[in-house]
Amino acid sequence: MIEAATADRVKLKPGDTIGILGGGQLGRMLALAAARLGLRCQVFSPDPDSPAFDVVLNAACAEYADVEALELFANDVDVITYEFENVPAAAAMILAARRPVLPNRKVLETTQDRLAEKDFVKRLGIGTAAYADVTSAASLHAAIAKIGLPAVLKTRRFGYDGKGQAIIREGDNFDRVWADIGTKSAILEAFIPFEREISVIAARSANGEVECFDVTENEHRDHILKMSRAPAAIPDALALEARRIAEAIATALDYVGVLAVEMFVLEDESGPRILVNEIAPRVHNSGHWTLDGASISQFEQHIRAIAGWPLGKPVRYGAVTMTNLIGDEVLDYEKWLTVPGATVHLYGKGAPRPGRKMGHVTQVEADPAQK
Ligand code: AMP
Repeated sequence: MIEAATADRVKLKPGDTIGILGGGQLGRMLALAAARLGLRCQVFSPDPDSPAFDVVLNAACAEYADVEALELFANDVDVITYEFENVPAAAAMILAARRPVLPNRKVLETTQDRLAEKDFVKRLGIGTAAYADVTSAASLHAAIAKIGLPAVLKTRRFGYDGKGQAIIREGDNFDRVWADIGTKSAILEAFIPFEREISVIAARSANGEVECFDVTENEHRDHILKMSRAPAAIPDALALEARRIAEAIATALDYVGVLAVEMFVLEDESGPRILVNEIAPRVHNSGHWTLDGASISQFEQHIRAIAGWPLGKPVRYGAVTMTNLIGDEVLDYEKWLTVPGATVHLYGKGAPRPGRKMGHVTQVEADPAQK
């Protein structure tokens, strides 16, 4: 299969059009960042209620299996990117034959499958939780014998926000856990008694330049990100190591665009250590603080990278906190609007279902040293 163009041939001009696969809040914020740089966006999403549709002139509402709709979409845009990692391989192939797709399709193959992703990270010599492939109840028993308990069983594909995961503890009925996970393709990971969770948002350009945002510390509630703080309260040497890991991953993937690497910080006798949990080949919720807390946002960095434009050198404005408004919490938006220094983002979604990310709030505490 011949790709339409390689990344190093993409050089957009103001007025050119970016195609975004996926119409959620990430696509919406990407399109807004593109507009500020004089670039247009078209959004492709099967969901008629896509929040990204509201901010672009042209939207394609069709299934990812609709070849004709994909072709029409590709013909209308200059470069294609995505806001979620589960883009079907066949759709990516059809699009890549017509227009450059950035980040490249191989990135999707690696990051859509937890086992392929862990193998990839391990090959780079970067630490992960111990893991084993699980395809049957018998192999789950074998994996537990190898890895020990507690452990986390995860579906290899289509898991997000803790969906498709189960913690297994001593005394659990392993066969029942296997039956409940409802897949034949899973991995078992050692449960990491982490001290904190951090992430690095990195941007890489087609010529291999990498820019990382300051390391972010993340707090989850019910497996969903609730709060991010930048910078993470970790020693400088550890922050440097986290950035080095993200850069090594971006480079090894020949990545163009923004990616997020989620990591665990583990404290043991020899001091703090970092293990990689997951790679998100896209802009990420833990980078939303950059919209108001830094001179350049993750969304703008992504647009610059895929446009073939120079990356920015982001300057953080101070200590930044990002709070997600999840489900009914969004109903408090008027209260947030009156909080001094708070910036409110609402995604324009319909009903606030439990667990649904409806908006977020950023608060920046200026660093006295920077005044
Ligand atoms: P994931 O979908 O892999 O990002 O997992 C969602 C959340 O579950 C993570 O942010 C962690 O809080 C928790 N988690 C996932 N894997 C592990 C693990 N191996 N050990 C401990 N906690 C985990």
